[in-house]
Amino acid sequence: MTEQSALDRAFMQQTLAYGARGLGTTGTNPCVGALITQDTPDGPVVIARGHTQIGGRPHGEAHAFDRAGAAATGGTLYVTLEPCSHRTIRAATPCVERTIRAGVRRVVVAMADPNPRFRGLGFALLRSAGISVTTGVLEDEARHSHRGYVLRITEGRPMVTFKVARTADGYAGSAAGGPIAVSCQAANGWVHLQRAHHDVIMLGIGSVLADNPMLTVRLPGMAHRSPIRVILDSHLRLPPGSRLVQSAGEVPVWVIAAETAPVANEAELVAAGVEVMRVSAGPDGHLDLREALQLLGARGINRVFSEGGPTIGEKLALAGLTDEVIVSTSPRTLGSPGIVAVRPALAGLLADPDLYRLAESGLIGHDRFERYERIA
Ligand SMILES: [Zn+2]
Repeated sequence: MTEQSALDRAFMQQTLAYGARGLGTTGTNPCVGALITQDTPDGPVVIARGHTQIGGRPHGEAHAFDRAGAAATGGTLYVTLEPCSHRTIRAATPCVERTIRAGVRRVVVAMADPNPRFRGLGFALLRSAGISVTTGVLEDEARHSHRGYVLRITEGRPMVTFKVARTADGYAGSAAGGPIAVSCQAANGWVHLQRAHHDVIMLGIGSVLADNPMLTVRLPGMAHRSPIRVILDSHLRLPPGSRLVQSAGEVPVWVIAAETAPVANEAELVAAGVEVMRVSAGPDGHLDLREALQLLGARGINRVFSEGGPTIGEKLALAGLTDEVIVSTSPRTLGSPGIVAVRPALAGLLADPDLYRLAESGLIGHDRFERYERIA
């Protein structure tokens, strides 16, 4: 590896980490990281960083240029995704134009635009303006960071992270139903951080009826980052008195129901501020999960965090719709047979090296966690 490419990788690593800060907050836009360096006699130094801001504007590059001002001239721009070259309906200056105007000498990019309509156009425009362009630096890492956006553009659906917590003997809940405190406090905090990095948190009605959860982000200073709460509820059984419905005015609640669900239940939920959408049900009477996710994709949702329950986790994975799986295991045991957290079919998929790879594992507080990524 040359000295330049080692430097490029180190700066891109920082750019990716900075860009990931805004995950779950950028609306339909990808969450792009950008970093500007300037050469000095002692080597390159970072003069500004940026990431896509809340709601998607300014873009990451524009945010970094706003911060750098005239100091960007002659520098190098690192960016996690090919800079945009087209004007949107909001008529903001495309990042390619900002980059040319800023007078940077060199642009280093992790991955090309996944949209075939625009792929490569940003690179071509930059090069035709005399800027040196290096592509593909830490591309795999960038693909992971932008996975939700890439899937929405290429497959019309968001990425799905399925998370399940279990006891040491493998249970997500007691046989009688109702919540059991599975995770330690540190692991719970980590789960809330994961929620904040997704656009939507999605749950089956069974888990809602059992636990009456709030599904918000309860971390100091991050309450405003609670994702939209989506409930998969074929027959519209969500109780109007539930904590979810009662708080629909503060954090949105969307319910995805079957076309056949009772109209009266819909009217009651809508009156309480809940948005109800309908998809077709399969022959088994359960919602068509791919159609449900495509509906979310059409609404501009890039990242879905599914916290259950085990049945939905298994169905999503069997349909090839689970892109990441997080399993956390507490040292505590339930001690009697309960609801199995990782059902046999999901366990089989996770153990197949052609389908999933163990990307990360470790301890958070007392709990062990494993994060799997879908390969195929
Ligand atoms: Zn842009």
